[in-house]
Amino acid sequence: MKRPALVVLALLALFASAAVVQAAPNCSACAKAIKGRYITSGNKAYCSQTCFVATLDECNHCGNKLKGRYITSEKKKFCSDACLESILPQCEVCEKPLMRRHTIKGHVFCDLHAESPRCTACQLPFLRGGELPDLRYVCETCNEIVIYDIEKAMKLFRLARRELYQITARKSRQVPKLKLVGRDRLNQLTNLRMDQQDGLQLNGFYHRTETTRTSRNSFGTGTTTATKVEKTIYMLYALSPDTFLTTGVHEFTHDMIAEFFPHLDDLPLWAAEGICQYVAVILCRKRDFAEQLESIQTSPDTIYGDGYRYFEKKLGPNNWSGLLQWMKRTDPKKLPAAAPR
Ligand SMILES: [Zn+2]
Ligand SMILES: [Zn+2]
Ligand SMILES: [Zn+2]
Ligand SMILES: [Zn+2]
Ligand SMILES: [Zn+2]
Repeated sequence: MKRPALVVLALLALFASAAVVQAAPNCSACAKAIKGRYITSGNKAYCSQTCFVATLDECNHCGNKLKGRYITSEKKKFCSDACLESILPQCEVCEKPLMRRHTIKGHVFCDLHAESPRCTACQLPFLRGGELPDLRYVCETCNEIVIYDIEKAMKLFRLARRELYQITARKSRQVPKLKLVGRDRLNQLTNLRMDQQDGLQLNGFYHRTETTRTSRNSFGTGTTTATKVEKTIYMLYALSPDTFLTTGVHEFTHDMIAEFFPHLDDLPLWAAEGICQYVAVILCRKRDFAEQLESIQTSPDTIYGDGYRYFEKKLGPNNWSGLLQWMKRTDPKKLPAAAPR
């Protein structure tokens, strides 16, 4: 929150009583020699009220001379509250002029609206919006574009798979199933495998099960084994298309690791999530997803944030071939349990 310095000052020594001095000075404004009564302010003298007023500062908004009390805010001076408020930023929800303001993602809000519910997609407070069944909120603007519909979701899901293929030249033959779920269900799924971290909100989850069945063949002469793999990508509904695509690429990267790098099966969480975030960031850069990019890069989370930053530091940006080499060479057992900082 930013609190502009607000100082109310009164000009002192304004229209100081006339004084007579022996050696008449020159007027500080017009430079003429002063005769008779004159005005002093500070240690300057003026021949007339007009000359004195000419030296006064002007209101930053209306241009009137600041003759009496005035207000300063952020080094600018104003004659009145009305003039000050006319230049103050306004809350983007209620349009109230803001003496104290909260900045959220580059937008300014009043105390009340900074504390009010935020849209799940743009993460900003809103004037008009609604509540979703899983108790998230969505603003009217985002509501037009977020993904509720399984067909729209499938299009982006396939696109995410193609994007992963373009980045890594790998795609598994068996495409995972897609399920759109609410925050409640997604939290249930993800809490199964990780501690709840404060403030961390996941947008997707990759789930894979492998069942191996051994059966005697019909002649009783041997056994056959069949492995059945089931893969599901759960995606949170009401994501913006850009976030859906970014999350989709992240989840498909989990699938790629499982299919093509089975020796990485027991990677520590930070490394698995770090790889997926690193690949997702390649997509964000390619598609100019500035918000998604920033949120991955600046995540304070010790698994997602530190995991990503480990690879970014080690490999530099957009270095899929470097990551590929790392994945081929790495023995998960030799990795530390927590991401090195
Ligand atoms: Zn003068
Ligand atoms: Zn003014
Ligand atoms: Zn407001
Ligand atoms: Zn929104
Ligand atoms: Zn993940």
